[in-house]
Amino acid sequence: MITRFAPSPTGHLHKGHAWSALTAYEKALNENGKFLLRIEDIDFNRCSRGDTAQILEDLAWLGIEWDKPVRIQSEHLADYTAATKSLQDQGLLYPCFCTRKDIQREIEAAGHAPHGGDGPLYPGTCRRLSEDERRARIASGKPYALRLDLSKALEIIGSRLTWQDSIHGEQIARPEEFGDAVIVRKDIGTSYHLAVVVDDGLQGVTDIVRGVDLFESTHLHRVLQQLLDLPAPVYHHHKLLTDDKGRRLAKRDKSITLKRLKGSGVSAAELKKELGFGV
Ligand code: GLU
Repeated sequence: MITRFAPSPTGHLHKGHAWSALTAYEKALNENGKFLLRIEDIDFNRCSRGDTAQILEDLAWLGIEWDKPVRIQSEHLADYTAATKSLQDQGLLYPCFCTRKDIQREIEAAGHAPHGGDGPLYPGTCRRLSEDERRARIASGKPYALRLDLSKALEIIGSRLTWQDSIHGEQIARPEEFGDAVIVRKDIGTSYHLAVVVDDGLQGVTDIVRGVDLFESTHLHRVLQQLLDLPAPVYHHHKLLTDDKGRRLAKRDKSITLKRLKGSGVSAAELKKELGFGV
């Protein structure tokens, strides 16, 4: 068994992260497996090195030992480029020049838009461009993202995809919820979805422990895994910790960060006990 914890350094970890990391860590320990740590810092607009350093410190404080080295996503951009190339070679990506405004306008003009879990689906404007038009726009220097041509992808895959979720049972993937998702963003040269799927595959992760807030993403991740010839891990989409008012813990709420708890004299042993873990 290989599990992992994959935080984004966009703030400090809180109790909810501690719970998720300890769950993945214990799972690996119980099976004599490995526990990996991956820093998901591809979104350079939002991530900071200071937050990465704090994450390592907080996890060490909790007594978590990860297999070395830590995988830092920003050091592996070539892997995401290679995966992009593989999807391109299969004819599955197309450049999308639309801005958010363009998309909104197009949807308004059409008077309706199919919706997925994430809101209105991309109306396919750039999927319909001719090769000449694409070349001309690229040559003019217009920035573009790369989107997945989902119906082509599903045609290649041919059958329904599923995944095993230890908490929610067997699931049938519904990538239609995403439509033609952005696989390579304009600004960062990849996307969360592509990077996470490539990394879990390259790192041989067998069991993905993560919050239920990422459950929906798995519909798309299964498609990418299939197209990139990567195995399907088992998923454990756990519930999110809430505060005493029932609100989800959030990074922006500084009062509950591990750093703050530690600073206020709480010991790692006390916190682990509170979260239901042995010391
Ligand atoms: N980096 C993501 C986050 O911090 C988690 C990704 C994952 O576990 O798949 O929300």
